[in-house]
Amino acid sequence: EQASVITVDGPSGSGKGTLCQLLAKELGWNLLDSGALYRLVALAADHHGVELDDTEALTVLAEHLDVQFNAVEGSDGIRIVLEGEEVTDTIRTEKVGGDASVVAAIPAVREALLNRQRAFATEPGLIADGRDMGTVVFPDAPLKIYLDASAEERADRRYNQLINKGLGASLQAILEDIKARDARDMNRAVAPLKPAQDAIVLDSTKLTIDEVLAAVMEEVRHKG
Ligand code: C5P
Repeated sequence: EQASVITVDGPSGSGKGTLCQLLAKELGWNLLDSGALYRLVALAADHHGVELDDTEALTVLAEHLDVQFNAVEGSDGIRIVLEGEEVTDTIRTEKVGGDASVVAAIPAVREALLNRQRAFATEPGLIADGRDMGTVVFPDAPLKIYLDASAEERADRRYNQLINKGLGASLQAILEDIKARDARDMNRAVAPLKPAQDAIVLDSTKLTIDEVLAAVMEEVRHKG
């Protein structure tokens, strides 16, 4: 018997990551950031000099991914350690995100990460953040959310994040990047990004994160 799971899927920049962190905190549940796994495979490939078109080598990397998600004492944060090296921030770059979406289009890589993802579903419950949580990884989840937002709004949010961190950024380049990543994620043959048939679709374009959280918590209460 699997612990209860709430799946949250959607494109990058929809606010899914923040929503999932808040949901996990509110409910006291575990959190799976499945995108981090694809980012880790991409980063491991970079470290080992594996090319992004070397399907077999990438699959071996995914099967043997040596990663630890360590809780940080006194905070909600986690530290991600890949092959003994802290990579918490390194995996968040645009480059690694783009590489991750190339790696994620390989069926054998996805297959290799399946059991690792399902193992996160432990008591008291799991918030699963990704692209195929409701369609492939946890198809029986009783509550599935699909969080969307316009590409322009998502680019704006990303741009502001980077500027606030004191990093330079080009809005136009970010928008193009987002559209390219969307196209790759939505058009791939295996586990494409799309709402599960029984998902509740929310559009966060004109909503604050608190409004999104409130809408989802309302659904959680309905499901009792
Ligand atoms: O969500 P995040 O931006 O970290 O994901 C990076 C990439 O990993 C996505 O663009 C997508 O291609 C891939 N991914 C996926 N399936 C998931 C989560 C992420 O294909 N469940």
